[in-house]
Amino acid sequence: MEFNDWLMGHEVPIRLGFFFGVLVLVALWEILAPRRTLTVPKALRWANNLGLVFFNSFVLRLLFPAAAVGMAAFASQNGWGLFNHFQIPFAVAVVVSVVAMDFIIYLQHVLVHAVPVLWRLHRVHHADLDYDVTTGARFHPIEIIISMLIKFSTIVVLGPPVVAVVIFEVVLNAMAMFNHGNVRLPLGLDRVLRLFVVTPDMHRVHHSVEDDEANSNFGFNLSLWDRLFGTYRDQPRAGHEAMTIGIHKFRTTREVTWLPGILSLPFKGKISEYAINTRRWGKPE
Ligand SMILES: [Zn+2]
Ligand SMILES: [Zn+2]
Repeated sequence: MEFNDWLMGHEVPIRLGFFFGVLVLVALWEILAPRRTLTVPKALRWANNLGLVFFNSFVLRLLFPAAAVGMAAFASQNGWGLFNHFQIPFAVAVVVSVVAMDFIIYLQHVLVHAVPVLWRLHRVHHADLDYDVTTGARFHPIEIIISMLIKFSTIVVLGPPVVAVVIFEVVLNAMAMFNHGNVRLPLGLDRVLRLFVVTPDMHRVHHSVEDDEANSNFGFNLSLWDRLFGTYRDQPRAGHEAMTIGIHKFRTTREVTWLPGILSLPFKGKISEYAINTRRWGKPE
């Protein structure tokens, strides 16, 4: 219990420490061994993408000051959820919780592509014209709020140990920055790594303008889910250097790079477009 109290008290510095640590590491890696040539000035994209990240952190703290760890502690105090109800060895509960939360994130990602109104929010993540470490944290604030509510529901049902939630949040954040990195990994190493986890080359396919490629590789941590559910795609048809990143419909920096454009992107385009395009799986563009 004391350890949980310590974790709760230090959750913010732990997460911030990992966020900035991994950000700096991947940013240096991107300079030393870039995978693609960027198309938009980096300073412009970084200022706006990171501006969005700070804005989202502020909104989240305001709405949910206790965050997901607070919810896990609350569930444990009240005996809510599977792992608070049944006596399961602690280590097993931690590992199963982290893997289960990763599976839910995978399902959530498939959902935000499949449901047109959710895709409108999620397209903020996809509309980035380049693909680098800051893309990994670029989400519309409303999608961030929906994610948090889904996380709360998962925690109430699962009852994961508080430490599992902290591990999951830190690992998800670090992995998202790693697999959005514009970094060159030896191809042999990539092939071995992606047997277990999502690599930059694997997730980059998901940021293609091509519909079928964007509707594959939904995983953020374990590559298992895409292989298991048939959404795995090895490489982009055009190759990593020549493929086009983003969304066909929105390609001006005013719409997708500057913060006001990013925040209003979900509300662009007519609602009636939904009806015409919902028959197609995925992107209603
Ligand atoms: Zn996506
Ligand atoms: Zn992504």
